[in-house]
Amino acid sequence: WSKTLSRTGCRNVCSSPSRLQSMSAWVIDQYGSSGVLRHTEEIPIPTVNFAHDVMINVSAASLNPLDLNMRGGYGATLLNLRRDPLSVVNSFSEFPLILGRDLSGVVVDCGSGVTHFAPGDEVWAAIPPWKQGSLAEYVTLTEYEVSCKPKSLSHIEAASIPYVANTAFSALVNAGGLCRESSLNKRVLITGASGGVGTFSIQLLKAWGAHVTVTCSQNAEGLVRGLGADEVVDYTAGDVAEQLEMMERFDVILDNVGGDTEEWATRLLKPWSGAKYVTLVSPLLLNTDSMGVLDGSLHAGLTLHNKAFQNITCSGVFYRWAFYTPDGPALDEVSRLVDAGKILPVVEAQFPFSQVPQAFQKLEQGHARGKTVVEVA
Ligand code: NDP
Repeated sequence: WSKTLSRTGCRNVCSSPSRLQSMSAWVIDQYGSSGVLRHTEEIPIPTVNFAHDVMINVSAASLNPLDLNMRGGYGATLLNLRRDPLSVVNSFSEFPLILGRDLSGVVVDCGSGVTHFAPGDEVWAAIPPWKQGSLAEYVTLTEYEVSCKPKSLSHIEAASIPYVANTAFSALVNAGGLCRESSLNKRVLITGASGGVGTFSIQLLKAWGAHVTVTCSQNAEGLVRGLGADEVVDYTAGDVAEQLEMMERFDVILDNVGGDTEEWATRLLKPWSGAKYVTLVSPLLLNTDSMGVLDGSLHAGLTLHNKAFQNITCSGVFYRWAFYTPDGPALDEVSRLVDAGKILPVVEAQFPFSQVPQAFQKLEQGHARGKTVVEVA
């Protein structure tokens, strides 16, 4: 641990986990509902094995709908293929499986090729869904998935952001074609804006100068307006499509709700002007779970192709699916926006590590207003 300089000039304090062999974690040993969560002190510590590995002592983690879904087995077919491509012939098992996709913590060890981080750096990250999660004392990731935590946030606050930030970047930037330079005065509609992805996306788009319209329940109006939403439509007060049709057309729609939303939402886009409908709710993983990797991917690919073809030929709008993608450099940009006061964490509920099952129960109740965070250490 001779490194003294990191990309972001974070504090360097060395502390070795090498004496330890096992760690505390919440795991599942089978898929199911709340009863499958088990606390253990006997999970092997994920040590640094590769040159670009960064081992992190987790201070806080947060939960997302994906954790609930993964607890029930969602995506297991595709994720197991990614975890072990030879799983068909090996007796591979993903269990005990650790959930939790977000973390904020402190680097404790680095591979020989790591150039951006050093032990003692305070970092945050979103974890790929095929890797072991953050409801544990330690996580090891590659340095490309990690970023220096905003200095202005506590670990609890920081843990609420990485997954929704990486998802928003994937949807708005990669699929929606927006960025800091191109967003000024663009009209963007966000459906389901009161949850984790929505509350982050409003703030990112406002920081980039876009005009943001959102849909949410009436009792979330104060929250979303406080985060910068320009227009708020209460989806519980009559026909939401009718209310939105009275407004000027949009350049980009980020759909966090799914279901039949796309049937009316694509009509709200400016025709023949490069406008994009991006949904985070796609059937890809459900298809691969029910039909197998090959048939499921093919089926999903055909569905996407047909919808994209229909939209582009009928009204000249792009139809896209977006997926959360871990991305350290994107988090670097978010970190700067947070430290500049342009993005605030939205922590709705906080639980100690001993109450992870209660944190899942909170998530199961739905109606999120931001994020549920777990203090790990
Ligand atoms: P949350 O559970 O945090 O938020 C969902 C929000 O939507 C809640 O605030 C809820 O509040 C609101 N809502 C529910 N129904 C409607 C409706 N009909 N119209 C408007 N608002 C509604 O979820 P996330 O923000 O974390 O994620 C949003 C969706 O995106 C989820 O379905 C998630 O699974 C998916 N997702 C997909 C990813 C991918 O990689 N493809 C990555 C991340 C998320 P209320 O019910 O009180 O109105």
